[in-house]
Amino acid sequence: MRSYYRSRRIEGPPEIEKREFGYSLTPFRKIETRHRAFSSEEELNRFLRESAPFYISYSVGYFKFPRATPMENKVLLGSDLVFEFDVDELGLKSERDVWVCDHCGEAGYGWRERCPKCGSPVRVEIFPDEKREERLKSMVSSLIEEFFLGDLGVSEDEISVNFSGNRGYHIHVRSKDFYPLDKKARIELAEYVTGQSIDPSYLFGEAGSCGRNVPFLCVKGPKPSDAGWPGRVARAVVRVLREKDRGLLLQILDEKKVDVLLSNAQLYASLISRGLWPGTSLFPLSTWVEIARRLAPLGGYTIDTNTTVDIHRLIRLPDTIHGTTGLVAMRVKKLDGFNPYREAVVLPSKEISVKVKIAPEFELGKKSFGPFRDEEVQLPLYVAYFLIGRGVAEWSLTSRG
Ligand SMILES: [Zn+2]
Repeated sequence: MRSYYRSRRIEGPPEIEKREFGYSLTPFRKIETRHRAFSSEEELNRFLRESAPFYISYSVGYFKFPRATPMENKVLLGSDLVFEFDVDELGLKSERDVWVCDHCGEAGYGWRERCPKCGSPVRVEIFPDEKREERLKSMVSSLIEEFFLGDLGVSEDEISVNFSGNRGYHIHVRSKDFYPLDKKARIELAEYVTGQSIDPSYLFGEAGSCGRNVPFLCVKGPKPSDAGWPGRVARAVVRVLREKDRGLLLQILDEKKVDVLLSNAQLYASLISRGLWPGTSLFPLSTWVEIARRLAPLGGYTIDTNTTVDIHRLIRLPDTIHGTTGLVAMRVKKLDGFNPYREAVVLPSKEISVKVKIAPEFELGKKSFGPFRDEEVQLPLYVAYFLIGRGVAEWSLTSRG
């Protein structure tokens, strides 16, 4: 840890003197100390070199008095906008993940909610999976393209992306336009991204012919090729019709309506693809508005809304070590080709002995390890640390110290 901070200079956040910092000097304990501040990048780096914290985070907010307590006395001047994207929120499951029951000690592969042996809730620990990593990155890229560069008109140099050091990515938007937004405005912005607050009623126009051979009228509405939310809403509805997702539709409509909708799914989907929404007696405009409203989130992005909304939040300082995984919360210059499980490894590879409860076959630092099951193994320190942080291994007594 210390050698990492001695060998490089960590870039501080913009306006470092207005930020609050929090850190921990104990492994696996997130924040022990808060309300710290550094007057310069130099001072921050001196602290990192001398104390080598296991975690260090800084405030997304800019404060007049960052050291002051309680929070109100800090005097908030503005806040960066941060979006957090992670594997859990997105439900990107992998067969490589493991579940562990801390109650009875049972463990296995994949995702579970409860222990099959004792019925207690279990925890799920994620492991490197290249396919999932690619999917996560492509979601981050399209969120940036579609919403920030597209809908919100933020410029590329105001956006930075970091690997969180654990399960996902943070997108920081540093635009003066967003600094003053209060909590309520940030809630609206987060809901805009997730699609939870979209009101589709304003997307529809007049009724008219649906074309030849269609025995009912259609209402003009959004179509999949439209920009922004109109297109996202139309694409979501067309997709659900094409996929005939009965279970999902039953959450919105009664059984009779779902049956009619599904037996006409192809026709309706092709009409909506042209921006013509069928106005039958069973499906008046109000019903389509409800369907569109409920399906809109399918066109949005699942983000950790708390992170975006909380203007007092502390967030991992980029390029510092994440004490749960031992990986660096790296600034990512180019998402394409980035693999955190190769590039963010910085702890030494000197071998130590650990007892592993369970681990799949996984790649870390360009090498493959596992699978392990209830065994004592010699592993590079960076792998041992990762497994201990995941709560699936412990230091072996023989190697302690
Ligand atoms: Zn159990």
